[in-house]
Parts: sequence; C-alpha cells; structure tokens
Amino acid sequence: MITQNTKEPRITLVGAGPGDTDLITIKGLIALQSADVVLYDALVNDEMLQFAPANAVKVYVGKRNGDHSYSQEAVNKLMVDYALNYGHVVRLKGGDPFVFGRGYEELDHAAAYSIPTQVIPGISSSIGVPGLQGIPVTHRGLAESFWVVTGTTASGMLSNDLYDAARSRATVVVLMGLHKLKEIVKLYQNEGRGKLPVAIVQSGSTADEQIAIGVVDTIVEVVEENKIKAPALIVLGEVVSLHPKFQPIKDFYAIADKE
Ligand code: SAH
Repeated sequence: MITQNTKEPRITLVGAGPGDTDLITIKGLIALQSADVVLYDALVNDEMLQFAPANAVKVYVGKRNGDHSYSQEAVNKLMVDYALNYGHVVRLKGGDPFVFGRGYEELDHAAAYSIPTQVIPGISSSIGVPGLQGIPVTHRGLAESFWVVTGTTASGMLSNDLYDAARSRATVVVLMGLHKLKEIVKLYQNEGRGKLPVAIVQSGSTADEQIAIGVVDTIVEVVEENKIKAPALIVLGEVVSLHPKFQPIKDFYAIADKE
C-alpha cells in the first residue's frame, strides 16, 4: 500500500480507568486529543472517544459476548499497521493497561518494528472500584496487603494463587472471576472461612454499578438475587465489613454467635 503519511509513527498505551470518563488521567486525555487512531477495548466507555479528534479513526477491537473476532495477534498487527500508515495510535484499555490487560505484549510487538511507545497508567478497577464503594483494599488492623488475582487463567483453571490467597489474611480482589464464584466460595469454605465478608461490584463507576454484599457462605445467593452480571469484581476480606451494607450482616452473625 502506498501511503501519504508524513507523521511519525508512535503508539501510546493508555489506561482509561474503570468506566467513568472523568477517571482517565490528564496525561491520558492529552494523548487522546492528539490521536490519529484510537484502538479501544470492550471495557472502555465509548463516551471516552469524544476526547479524540473528530477525524481520528476509531476502531473497536474488543471481545464482547464471547466474540473473539480480534485475536491478540490481530490487534498487535492492526496497531502497527495503523501507526505506520496514520501516525499516532492510542491504544485505549480499561483500567490500567498492565493489570490483566496484555499491554506488555502489544508494546513488545511494536518494539519489533522500532515504533516508539509510551505508557500512561490508569486507575485499575481492582483498587478504584472497591474504593468508590468506600471499601479500602488495606486498612490498619484489617488488611496488611492486597492481592489481585485472575479468575480466568490461560488454561481456564482457577489460578493456583487463589489457593494461597484463601489461606492469607490479605484482601483478595478477583478479576474475571464472576463465572467461577461457586468454585472460589468452595475454596474459601475448605479453609474454614465461610464467614469472611465478600463484596461483588458490577460495572463500578458507571450508571450500571451494583453491589452485592455478604459472606462467603451467602454470597452466591446474594449475587443471584441481585442478578449481578459481568463485568464485575469480587472482593474477599475483612475490609468489606467497613461497607455500610455489611452492618446488618454483622449484627446477624453477632446474634447467631450468642445462641
Ligand atoms: N486492566 C483492567 C482489568 C482487565 S481484566 C483494570 O486494571 O481494571 C477485566 C476484568 O476487570 C473484568 O472481568 C472485571 O472483573 C474487572 N473490571 C474492569 N472494569 C470493571 C468495573 N468498572 N467494575 C467492576 N469490575 C471491573
């Protein structure tokens, strides 16, 4: 293909944050404003595209409803082709690009073509979404660390890290794990942790935000009652007891304990 492009190719990997358009960084916003092309994922709020120039090419490369029309290889190739032909490609990803975002693979691919790259971090849903609900991932006396674990490994099995996490006192945030909730619950129950507080947050920071709160033993039921859907994350840990909706549950167990 003969191109008319006179712009230098470059790629900026931008974290869009958890959904609310105001939760992108100023640096990410400035990058979007100078984009010639925006490649965006399923978890990126479409409204974010309004920040890009009207004549910028905007390409959706996400996987929705199990539609894997764009493999990672196809995205890598598209990104490089656009950079070489159009100039500045903004690769916009939900949350932070390096938290289960495959961001490094894309940078690696760009490097093979000697295209300059830049990374602009974003607010990861793993910290930001619990935070917006008033659940701190760490809190003195309750949690000295937090783990962010995937519920969906490349092999489709539950991550081995979850077995270790369930034995720790850490706050555990599981991404891509809603469909594995029953397995995760069983794992915690096997460790004798059925009364551990759990929160599930759907579509944090958007109009569809919903929260389900319970303990390990009850959370499956609460999720079904509230019809919680993906994208959602699971927070397991004592810090969840700080959420106002947990108080009645705490009271219930306090009474039950006295019997
Ligand atoms: N890079 C992203 C995570 C990608 S993995 C980040 O840093 O946030 C995708 C998973 O993240 C989803 O399956 C879901 O578990 C979680 N997730 C992303 N955005 C979310 C949101 N707004 N609310 C709840 N969970 C979210």
